[in-house]
Amino acid sequence: MSINRKIIHVDMDAFYVSVEIRDNPALVGLPVAVGGNSDRRGVIATCNYEARKFGVRSAMATAMALKKCPNLVIVPGRMAEYKEVSRQIREIFEYYTPLIEPLSLDEAYLDVSDCTEFQGSATLIAQQIRRDIFYKTGLTASAGIAPVKFLAKVASDENKPNGQFVITPDQVVEFVKTMPLEKISGVGKVTLKKLHDAGLFVGEDVRNSKEVFLSQLLGSYGAVLWARCQGIDNRGVETERVRKSVGVERTFSEDIKDLSVLKQIMHEKLIPELKKRAQSYLDKRHIGKLGVKLKFNDFVVTTKEQKHNQFDVATFESLLVEALSRGEGRAVRLLGVHIGLEDSVVDAIEQLSLFG
Ligand SMILES: [Mg+2]
Repeated sequence: MSINRKIIHVDMDAFYVSVEIRDNPALVGLPVAVGGNSDRRGVIATCNYEARKFGVRSAMATAMALKKCPNLVIVPGRMAEYKEVSRQIREIFEYYTPLIEPLSLDEAYLDVSDCTEFQGSATLIAQQIRRDIFYKTGLTASAGIAPVKFLAKVASDENKPNGQFVITPDQVVEFVKTMPLEKISGVGKVTLKKLHDAGLFVGEDVRNSKEVFLSQLLGSYGAVLWARCQGIDNRGVETERVRKSVGVERTFSEDIKDLSVLKQIMHEKLIPELKKRAQSYLDKRHIGKLGVKLKFNDFVVTTKEQKHNQFDVATFESLLVEALSRGEGRAVRLLGVHIGLEDSVVDAIEQLSLFG
């Protein structure tokens, strides 16, 4: 069994867009997105619920978003303002607990196990935090409350927007049994397809499988997923974010099929940029692995990594070849390279540029 804590995952609703609408009431009721412009083949960073009704999603190409929703209002982002609001929200969290792990500007885990407000009721604490956020910023947030981190994150999505959902320790097993596997953070499109191909759709299916089978299917993540489906997640709320990897990536103005062109871009642009960007980390940390990420023209993303302790061009090259072969001839829309840093707790690669 896991060690039960009282974890709250707070997630702002359509954060960037909500800030824009708050500051420009003319946008109220319209489908709105924050993101890059269409001729640069930018992507949508966030969109509001009106836009989502048309099928617009985060990380969707702007051109595609406009096809789905021709009246979509696209506004450029104001990162400085988002950071300011994020700081205000953090101040609210700090009133309740020092154990805060931000995942991004608009999302954080809080461990409120030792918080004495509301007789220690995490449900009431979450409700008050969401009220505080609304009074202070005029923005709504959703929250998930659970004894372990991954379930708190799943729960914050259940009653979104402007809602919250509680999973008590007694409810964990029943909840994970019917939970679709794509809800678990770390299960992306590629992993999900493997799971579905193996006949695994919800937590119960994984619970009925052997751990070794999951490991054979998914590599090291298999054991993690197996544990999650038992309701186990022993990760604590990490107050100091330690970066796990550094990466750079590029979205092309035209899709590329040709391996030699991809190689050239990797050698001439991405690897030198990555080296520059990684410098400040490599004073104190070591390279643990190298990785290549591709997004194909159907938006499927694949990542190929290999253990290595230095920048090795030949390794990057062979990873690129392997990753490309997974596309079975599809053209590539985005190419990224990254290094994994040793001693890490974070599971997200910070992107070089938010708006691609
Ligand atoms: Mg959010």
